[in-house]
Order: sequence, then structure tokens, then C-alpha cells
Amino acid sequence: MTIASPGESSAAVAESTAELTDGYHLVVDALKMNDVETIYGLVGIPITDLARLAQARGIRYIGFRHESNAGHAAAAAGYLTKKPGVCLTVSAPGFLNGLVALANATTNCFPMVQISGSSERHIVDLQQGDYEEMDQLNAAKPFVKAAYRVSRVEDIGRGIARALRTAISGRPGGVYLDIPAAVLGSIMDAEEGAKTLSRLVDPAPRQLPAPEAVDRAIELLASAERPLVVLGKGAAYAQADDRIREFIETTGLPYVPMSMAKGLLPDDHPQSAGTARSLALKKADVVMLVGARLNWLLNHGEAPQWNPDAKFIQVDIEPREMDSNQPIAAPLVGDIESVFEVLAERTKPGQITVPAAWREELGARSAQNVAKMAKRLAADPHPMQFVGALKAIRDVVHERPETYIVNEGANALDIARSVIDMHVPRHRLDSGTWGVMGIGMGYAIAAAVETGAPVVAIEGDSAFGFSGMELETICRYKLPVITVIMNNGGVYRGDDVNPRDDAPSPTTLMAEARHDVMIEAFGGKGYRATTPAEVTAALTEAMAAGGPVLIDCVIDPSAGTESGNIGHLNPKGITVGNITVK
Ligand code: ADP
Repeated sequence: MTIASPGESSAAVAESTAELTDGYHLVVDALKMNDVETIYGLVGIPITDLARLAQARGIRYIGFRHESNAGHAAAAAGYLTKKPGVCLTVSAPGFLNGLVALANATTNCFPMVQISGSSERHIVDLQQGDYEEMDQLNAAKPFVKAAYRVSRVEDIGRGIARALRTAISGRPGGVYLDIPAAVLGSIMDAEEGAKTLSRLVDPAPRQLPAPEAVDRAIELLASAERPLVVLGKGAAYAQADDRIREFIETTGLPYVPMSMAKGLLPDDHPQSAGTARSLALKKADVVMLVGARLNWLLNHGEAPQWNPDAKFIQVDIEPREMDSNQPIAAPLVGDIESVFEVLAERTKPGQITVPAAWREELGARSAQNVAKMAKRLAADPHPMQFVGALKAIRDVVHERPETYIVNEGANALDIARSVIDMHVPRHRLDSGTWGVMGIGMGYAIAAAVETGAPVVAIEGDSAFGFSGMELETICRYKLPVITVIMNNGGVYRGDDVNPRDDAPSPTTLMAEARHDVMIEAFGGKGYRATTPAEVTAALTEAMAAGGPVLIDCVIDPSAGTESGNIGHLNPKGITVGNITVK
């Protein structure tokens, strides 16, 4: 029996005896119906009861100390599971904090939904000044794949279905879902309410490429003298590992992985040209991009880093990505799994071959670079350098290939990427498309929560600061996260000088900072390591113990270059005092 119309006031329906539901319950029911198992969030007005109810109904709730970190966790969960990660935030400031992560997720093409409570619409729209008043829907729009608002309690199911599908289908991205407090508190008949919910059918439909588009790509690859495949994090996300590997191995094509695609095929695979990357890009005449964009991370496909005559094949689910930087000679629009299925079907045996001269050229450069790196790795200077600490980490982590690596910083990022090779798909999460700082603890928490596997978060000391308070979250949930700080006492490096007085320079952090003591405040275990041997000992013990651990690696303050390997993007126009501007 229906006794209350949707949204009717609680006083009106209280007199009846029928079963009722409200916005809170409908949100939780809709999420559960669509297999949302975890919510990452930070409670407050008006969503505290929503989190409580979700937990009571069996959705795992992970509570953070800052919404950006909760959002980054949701984004990483989306990337790892190929299901939208859900983040829950309070209105205005909490929403804005979460929006940073939602925008970053959109930029990285990770599926994520941020659900935020918001204040009274009629007050917001007339700007009358409500508690945490903000027109959140419009604020979100420029930064996300889509933004929706649910204005009636009976639309909650539709709103959630729409948000989840938009996040996951086509090119994945971040979706904002605004739910005003009044809608959460609205009551309706439970039976009618249940009818408003739906389970998504085929939320991320396959997108098959046209056969002629596949043939065009195959013919181009077959005509190449110096072919190359570039694997990006879209290829890792697609979870088409076996198909990609099979195509690469049957054709013999050399490949270069982007940083988060490392491990899709093991970095020590004989066809990996990762250790001859510069030469491979500079000389390849036909390049097949697989879930990788020709953005700044690939120098926009331009000379001198690239062969100016290179022809590009691009495998991507997003048709608008084509020609964004270079003309794409063979666009292959579709989902990566389907594209590789059709590629395998339509490539004739022996049709694509790799000239021996190209293989040999790449192999020789690779051997040279590996030898150079081996020398760097063998050196053991004091005070400890990035390479020494990272080699120690690499050797311990190699024993446990199921370990997830999270990595951010400038030098800590660049050097770890080349020192620590990966052997398992999707086990490296890093600063991504924006090269952003602040993802560290959020990504680490999500990797631990979603997989239960050990996580080693390798953090520059500056990068760690953006999310460091989440050490408490890691300890509260007893997560197997080992945070390793590359502590050189500064942003980039720790030896910058203020020419005027003794106030710290803009890039200076505390030289004697004891991050290891921080984690002990929350019951975790801290180590301080000043040599690679100490790093090895601490990490070995930490891996065996499994619990929350932080290892503070004391690195030479003069180690590191400004802006890491993207110093060329950092204009230098001034001379300060006697500081040499390089
Ligand atoms: P990287 O930074 O590793 O080079 P990008 O983030 O630039 O990678 O590129 C990822 C690309 O992958 C995006 O253009 C996105 O549209 C695409 N993508 C994501 N998922 C899929 C999929 N399942 N099938 C095809 N393309 C995908």
C-alpha cells in the first residue's frame, strides 16, 4: 500500500503504518545493488548517518583524515578493480577537497564517483548564506566527466545508476553526484522506493573496432622497418593482460611501458625496449600506442624526442583522443580487450615481423644502458643517495612480487621508476598524468584495502607531507602499508640557501625531521635508515611483520635535481644572491 507520496514530510507519513524508507537507505540500497563494496570518505554534515548506515548494511567504510586522500583512494580502487571507486564527502570545503582527487581521476581516466551531501537548494540558489553553502554541482562541472544532482528522493536510484555507468563506460573518469541533505532525509514508501532502484546491465559495454580499421593498423605495422608498441596505463587498466602479451609475443614487437604499465609484461621481458627508451622513440617509424596518450609524458610525439616521420597507430576507447597531438595514421577505436581479440584474429601468421637490425640496435643500446645503471647501482656512497636506498628496496621487493608499489615525489619518483622493475600488471601506482603530489597515502590505502597484499609507498619527503596524516588511517585499519620516505630535507633537495637571512628557503624542509617517530604516535613501527644495509634490514623486517611501518631513509641533502627529470618545464629567469641558477 502506498501511503505517502515521494518526498512527503515525515510528519505526514508518520501517521500511517506502512513500511517507509528514506534517502539514506535508498542510497545505500542502490550502491549495494550495484556491487559497491567499499566507500572511502570523511564524515560530517550531512552524510554521517549515510556512512553509518552503509557500514551497518555491510559496505566497508574507510574513514580518512582529509577528503583528497579519500578521493585518491577511491580513484586508485577504480583503477585496480575496473569498477567505480566511491568517495563520500561533506558539503562545500569537504566537497572541494574531494574534487581535487575527482579531477585527478578524470585526468588519469580512472572510474570514480564522488557523492557529496550539499546544503538546502533554495538557500544556495538565492545565496542566502547556509552552513557550508556552495553551488557544488556547477563547481564540479569543469573538472569531471559528468556532474549530476538528485533533487527528489525517488530519483536516487536513477542518479546512482547514471553516475556509476558514466564513470565506467567509454573512457573512464570521475563523476560528481550531488545529493542535498533534504533529499537524504526525505521519506517515501519502502515498496515504491525499492522499485526506483536498478542494477546496471553491462555497465561498460565492449566496443569493437571495425575490421577495416584493424586491417589498416596491421598493414602499417607490417610495413614498418622499426616498429614499436607503447603500453600506457589504459592498457593496464583494461585487464587484457593475456591478449596483449600474446600479440606482442607472437609478432615479436618491441615495446616500451609507460610508468604505470610497467609489469604488464615483466620489465625483464626480452622484447622490452624500456631500457632503450630514448632510442626507441627517436627512431621508431611505426608506433602503436595502446592506452597511452601522446601528452607531455611522451613529448607530444614531437621531434627531437621522436622520429619526425613516425606514423602512429592509436588504440583507445576515446575517438576524440585521435589526432590530439600528432596525426593518427591508423586509429583503432575500441576497448583494448576487443581490439586485441580482433587483431589476433586478423593478423596472418608471419605478417608482422621485426627486422633483425632494429632488434639488434635496441638490444645493443639496452645492454649499454643496463651496464651504466649497474655501475650506479653498485656504487655505495655515503651519505646515502636515492639510488642506494632504492636498490635496497628493489631487492627486498623482488622477493615478494605481489607487493604493490606506490610512488610519488620528484627525484624519488624518477629514480624509483628506473631502479625498481615490475613483474606483475597494475602493481605500480604513481603520480600519473598530472605528475601530481598527494596521491601517496590514498593510493597505498586503496591498494591494501582492495587487494590485501603488502604495499610499499615510496615517497619523497615533500610529497609525503600532502597526505602524511593518513598514517593514522593506516594504523587505525591496521593495513599492510610500509611507507618509505626518501628524506633529503627538502623539496627536490635539502641544501638550498636563503641568501637574505636565516629563514628557511622556499624548498627547504626540516633537515632532522623524524618521520619514523610520527607513525609511532599511532602505534605503528618506525625505522630510521642511514645506509642501504639499514634500509634492507628494516624493510625485510617490516615485510615479515606486515603491519603499518614507516622507514625514514636519510638521504644526502645535496642529492636530487630541481623538478626531477622535468626541470626543462621549470622556467629559470632570476639570480638570487650568490645562488647559481642552472
Ligand atoms: P599513460 O599515462 O600511461 O601514457 P594515459 O593515461 O595517457 O596513459 O592513457 C590512457 C588511455 O587509455 C586513455 O586515452 C584512455 O581513453 C584509454 N583507455 C582506458 N581504458 C581503456 C580501455 N579499456 N580500452 C581502450 N582504451 C582505454
